[in-house]
Amino acid sequence: MTPVAELVEVTRTYPGGVTAVDGVSLAVGRGELVAIVGPSGSGKSTLLHLLGTLDLPGSGTVRIEGRDVAELSDRGLSALRAHRLGFVFQQFHLAAGVRALDNVADGLLYAGAPLAERRRRAAAALRRVGLGHRMDHRPHQLSGGEKQRVAIARAVVGEPSLLLADEPTGALDTATGAGVLDLLRELAGGGTAVVVITHDRDIAASLPRRVEMRDGRVVRDTAAVMVP
Ligand code: ADP
Repeated sequence: MTPVAELVEVTRTYPGGVTAVDGVSLAVGRGELVAIVGPSGSGKSTLLHLLGTLDLPGSGTVRIEGRDVAELSDRGLSALRAHRLGFVFQQFHLAAGVRALDNVADGLLYAGAPLAERRRRAAAALRRVGLGHRMDHRPHQLSGGEKQRVAIARAVVGEPSLLLADEPTGALDTATGAGVLDLLRELAGGGTAVVVITHDRDIAASLPRRVEMRDGRVVRDTAAVMVP
């Protein structure tokens, strides 16, 4: 089966000469839940950006659902991001003063669906993350964990095949973070591939696959079987 995302011998060197990702090959299959771990500066964020097509490799190949991202136009890349990829960040990045329903509905702006349709799907996504009772709340009326659930609902409302999360529990207490992880696990169980950067050792240890980075290289990948 075609991997959802695949890096083949990918290298990314920043202007100035730091090679943040150095010859990395990695395949992520449908429904996989992968933790990216490693010390600060080891290349985790750069790797996530490459998977999310927010950054392009200097050499090597990045494929999303079999498509080489280097062959896509800017428009093609935007469409790929809008339809196939979801992003979650440590600091939620919700629009202030906008109720949860519309924060999530905005995740479908690019899809061009009419507002009523976007809201209907946003409501379903909020129910899916356990926030059916918080649709009209503004971000300042939500707890940290609830905000992150809204952000996750926004990331998955378009039903992406790959969800990329950069320290999604970094701003949350342990118990709340564990709840967010349970949600990511559920999404993976539903078939969404999830790649999550985490500094939390317990969280990393609880995930089925850990990819450990050091100096831009993958030094360990616990995947029992690499996706072909
Ligand atoms: P991590 O997420 O593991 O902390 P990063 O991918 O952010 O690692 O960074 C890897 C290396 O690349 C570090 O040495 C960092 O300083 C460098 N780096 C990251 N972003 C840039 C950039 N925009 N310009 C130059 N160097 C960068």
